[in-house]
Amino acid sequence: MEILRTVADLRHWSRTNRCKAQNNSLACIGLVPTMGALHAGHASLIRAAASSCEQVAVSIFVNPTEDFARYPRSFDADCAIAEAEGATVIFAPAVEEMYPTGTVTYINVDSLSERLDGLSRPGHFRGVATVVAKLFNAAEPDLAFFGQKDAAQVAVLRRMVTDLRLATKIVVCPIVRESDGLALSSRNVYLSPTEHAQALILNRTIRHIESLAAAREHRASALVAAAREILATEPAVRVDYVELVDWDTLLPIDTASPRSLFAVAAWIGATRLIDNTILS
Ligand code: AMP
Repeated sequence: MEILRTVADLRHWSRTNRCKAQNNSLACIGLVPTMGALHAGHASLIRAAASSCEQVAVSIFVNPTEDFARYPRSFDADCAIAEAEGATVIFAPAVEEMYPTGTVTYINVDSLSERLDGLSRPGHFRGVATVVAKLFNAAEPDLAFFGQKDAAQVAVLRRMVTDLRLATKIVVCPIVRESDGLALSSRNVYLSPTEHAQALILNRTIRHIESLAAAREHRASALVAAAREILATEPAVRVDYVELVDWDTLLPIDTASPRSLFAVAAWIGATRLIDNTILS
């Protein structure tokens, strides 16, 4: 498995391998964008990519707009996981490679970028959309794989692909959870054992909302109130948002309908975690 550091090398790799493509039943180039600190959730994306693409690039890049200094890093272990799951190349650029000095060009997916996580993390989705657009431009992937865990991110990137008429198709993979139900996240390492136990309330809330929806409770007001009631039973948890939204626009809706996103974000100590379900 090759490790590439520059946009020019990634573009060259993509174009070279596109020409070599042999198997018509598979897409040619798959891309899995990540911030590293890979876990079983990332592994599931790489596996999905390897099962449907001849070549799979895994990118590892922590946006400087993120908690850059603090973010967990495990490059050697990441390479081992990526290779074991079928990645054929790792793209791990320096910040200067993705944001050359003097950069003033960014992708802003208006209105969606200011919803859900974008509201409490100003600039977050601008950073995500800009980096992903640069990755798409360099790797020219046929398919790009993202986790439903970051459902608002999926909505922002789908809109970007539609608006910019990009050729890449976005594939969304299910949320991978720990055996106790906590959605896997690179940030889970920040949780103390006590906080980990407290964080389980997020998944319990999501499961309860799913059962209410299955019992035909479709009113947003009732679902949000029920979720807040459960979250309030865990005093250590500070709710950021609880919302029922349309998964395409991220705008609040009154009644759950196919493709409604029920999403929760909450702080457990200094760590912000998210979870969600698509009510179909
Ligand atoms: P990150 O490294 O946190 O930026 O995540 C990279 C990709 O992995 C994103 O598309 C995430 O949605 C996805 N991902 C993160 N956690 C999970 C999970 N628990 N299950 C499935 N996908 C995930």
